Amino acid sequence: MRSQQTRAFPRITSLILQITIVCLLLAGAAIAQRANKHSIEKQIFGKMPDGTAVDIYTLRNASGVEARITNYGGIVVSLKVPDRNGKFDDVVLGYDNLDGYLKNNSPYMGALIGRYANRIAKGTFKLNGTEYHLAVNNGANHLHGGLKGFDKVVWTAAPLRVANGAALKLTYVSKDGEENYPGNLTATVIYTLSDANELRIDYSATTDKRTIVNLTSHSYFNLAGQGTGDILKHQLFMNAGRFTPTDAGAIPTGELKSVRGTPFDFTKPTEIGARIDQDDQQLKFGNGYDHNFVLIKGKRLSLAAIVNEPTTGRVMQVSTTEPGMQFYSGNFLDGSITGKDGKVYQRRYGFCLEAQHYPDSPNEPKFPSVVLNPGQRYTQTTIYKFSAK
Ligand code: BGC
Repeated sequence: MRSQQTRAFPRITSLILQITIVCLLLAGAAIAQRANKHSIEKQIFGKMPDGTAVDIYTLRNASGVEARITNYGGIVVSLKVPDRNGKFDDVVLGYDNLDGYLKNNSPYMGALIGRYANRIAKGTFKLNGTEYHLAVNNGANHLHGGLKGFDKVVWTAAPLRVANGAALKLTYVSKDGEENYPGNLTATVIYTLSDANELRIDYSATTDKRTIVNLTSHSYFNLAGQGTGDILKHQLFMNAGRFTPTDAGAIPTGELKSVRGTPFDFTKPTEIGARIDQDDQQLKFGNGYDHNFVLIKGKRLSLAAIVNEPTTGRVMQVSTTEPGMQFYSGNFLDGSITGKDGKVYQRRYGFCLEAQHYPDSPNEPKFPSVVLNPGQRYTQTTIYKFSAK
């Protein structure tokens, strides 16, 4: 009897062991499956006045971070990321539906900007001895590609298969002479929502005639959640020792000025609001921060900025290949926009970090060139990486 029991024991033990192994394998498979569970889904977003259908794509990564992007203007409509307690909030400003973007004069919320992001003095530049005249749509100057820039056109969209996340490829062919820019420009933008909680934007463009190009993305971030308040308590670190001071019309004077001893020194993390209302001529010109920072390094993908929101612990780290970063503190938001979920966007309810070449580069020979020749390829990559602490 006793000997039978002792023989039964190893059998039971081995059975338990086998069951445990099977359970572990199943759990492992489930985790692996979940880890692969990034997805992209297409839905109708609305119709353009001429009847063109506009879609919205929902990109999700393995940890549930979600970006909704429409092919109208390549706009990032929403971006949901976790706080330090795992609570997800939408951290970009925008409208609930296409009509919101079409009917209101959206201040480029979430949009792709081209052909030339930021300003060109008097809308004029010279190339190959020809003087080009662009729309003057911001005081005396040209801003963000003109009357109908890349933010207001319908891009061709296609989901893209990538190993590490969900990706969407957008293509737009801007015809020779569109908005008075020379050359047929074929632009592609790939948005990748990676499983490392990055929103990565890869831009590229080619032309058939010498032209200028400077693309960027214009999301207004509020890491505490869109529409919850102003961004003045967000702490900003900017990897920039100099900035481009401007005239009253926000056109760079040409000087690359040291930030040292000025309210533009963010080389140590500092609250956006700490010095924003100081008696400083540049802050007055910008109505707050609305300036291009000269990034240390540039061209190769390198750290440009880190923003930290203390109440939620959310952190956004921006890396880019670009030489400059326009930091705009949402100074012109004034409560006249009712955005997503009925939220009213008051002054400084969002900030933009727009990676790009310096403003007015076509007229500043000392600034890095924005000229694109046939046979060359323009590229730029910017990554917004989210975490919480
Ligand atoms: C500009 C601001 C402008 C905003 C919205 C930013 O990129 O620098 O001056 O108000 O875009 O148009």
